[in-house]
Amino acid sequence: MTRKLEGGRLVIASHNAGKIREIGALLAPFGVEVISAADLGLEEPAETEDTFAGNARIKAHYAAQKSGLPALSDDSGIMVDALGGDPGVYTADWAETPNGRDFKLAMTRVWTLLEEKAAPEPRTARFNATLCLAWPDGHDEIFEGQVEGRVVWPMRGENGFGFDPIFLPDGKTQTFGEMDPAEKHEMSHRAVAFARLVEGCFA
Ligand code: IMP
Repeated sequence: MTRKLEGGRLVIASHNAGKIREIGALLAPFGVEVISAADLGLEEPAETEDTFAGNARIKAHYAAQKSGLPALSDDSGIMVDALGGDPGVYTADWAETPNGRDFKLAMTRVWTLLEEKAAPEPRTARFNATLCLAWPDGHDEIFEGQVEGRVVWPMRGENGFGFDPIFLPDGKTQTFGEMDPAEKHEMSHRAVAFARLVEGCFA
């Protein structure tokens, strides 16, 4: 039996503007008042685990403890089959530069590695999203979602964030970067995980 969220305020345990925007849109119909960890001036805890669930727990519990409110985190990434599942949990790290995150650089790295390996087409991949809803008393609930697709090149589209311009979901002709945000919200890894969260904790 999962614990239910009893309305009121919820902290989005993220400093990633793209994720905050998407999670805010997904939460809009549920009448919860959302505030982000960035708005609260909370620090970003180090993501020291090597699993999505481990890092999602770190972020949600940190924000719940610091704010005294329930907190929702998202740990996500893209797993490319021909790269043995990389960058996976380390997706954001692949974009790190001394001047901040550069996702064009990270996407170029993924494509260059695939070319160097002469990986056969289609270059299958999936996005994963792991959501953790944590309460200040230490309880948590975890929900996961994935979406299957392939890596394409060159980058296509200005919508979304992160690796969206090179991810073509199965059965679609537009990358997540080209898709209308509402269409992405209906089918993304985050939407699938979110539907499970709603069923478990909002129903
Ligand atoms: P983290 O969960 O903060 O460790 O970072 C996950 C990284 O995965 C993000 O910085 C993005 O690069 C990537 N990512 C996760 N979800 C998406 C998505 O919906 N579109 C594009 N990139 C994503």
